[in-house]
Amino acid sequence: MYPLLALASTALAIVTLGYVVLCVVSPFGSCRRCHGHGHHITRRGRRRLCRRCDATGLRIRTGRHLVNAAQRTYRAGTR
Ligand SMILES: [Zn+2]
Repeated sequence: MYPLLALASTALAIVTLGYVVLCVVSPFGSCRRCHGHGHHITRRGRRRLCRRCDATGLRIRTGRHLVNAAQRTYRAGTR
């Protein structure tokens, strides 16, 4: 076994676990389009409501999306 490979895979596992925990604890991140403000300034200097997040400023994390999908699949399978 290569020690470096073992170290790399351990680090990857820790990062993945950390990301999953982050998705469970805090499922929403701030919208990248409007940076969580719910609106953005157009080039003409006018305020526009953000359509990407429906002016909530929140964006569901990709990881949380996966967690939700996994839960749905699990529930559908055990029903
Ligand atoms: Zn937005």
